[in-house]
Amino acid sequence: MKLLKDRILKDGIVKPGNILKVDSFLNHQMDITLINEIGKEFKRRFSDCPITKILTIEASGIGIACIAAQYFDVPVIFAKKTQSVNLDGEMYSTKVESFTHKKVYDVILSKKFLGPEDHVLLIDDFLANGCALLGLIDIVKESGATLEGAGIVIEKGFQQGGQIIRDMGIRLESLAIVDSMTDDSLTFRE
Ligand code: 5GP
Repeated sequence: MKLLKDRILKDGIVKPGNILKVDSFLNHQMDITLINEIGKEFKRRFSDCPITKILTIEASGIGIACIAAQYFDVPVIFAKKTQSVNLDGEMYSTKVESFTHKKVYDVILSKKFLGPEDHVLLIDDFLANGCALLGLIDIVKESGATLEGAGIVIEKGFQQGGQIIRDMGIRLESLAIVDSMTDDSLTFRE
């Protein structure tokens, strides 16, 4: 998606530890005009899928998922990160290791909001090692819903997540795939 790639080149900042900071337009301050175009693009790419729910993970996926959901006309559900799970049978749960915080979270979603009748699109801001997305995939599997695919705003192609998800046979649409980044250069996959 050219608009997005141009914006990453203009405003993205590469930080030590392979972190791309895009907090001026995507995940702290949010450029809604851009995110609206991102939502439309997800709809265009998944227009052949009978999506009934968009599933994301808190926190930074939520805003993006909400804007995309307006084009799919479906609800957004988000998995919540928690330090301790009270496993009362009412929640789907899994564990996710955070790339940015280097911490393992329990991640939960109420069983009320996802079931075998659903067709799910996963949405998140970044794909790095794939832990967040694999956690969401676990939850979809546990629920018996059909996973239609995953839409990612920025995939870091030099980390393993994209390969793992594609090797699982999951349809993965990343709007920008960063192949390499250093302090003064950033390249995208065509
Ligand atoms: P993964 O679980 O795929 O390793 O990482 C995905 C999550 O980590 C995303 O939800 C995102 O919040 C965060 N993340 C991973 N890499 C980056 C990055 O380079 N920049 C930012 N801002 N967040 C990242």
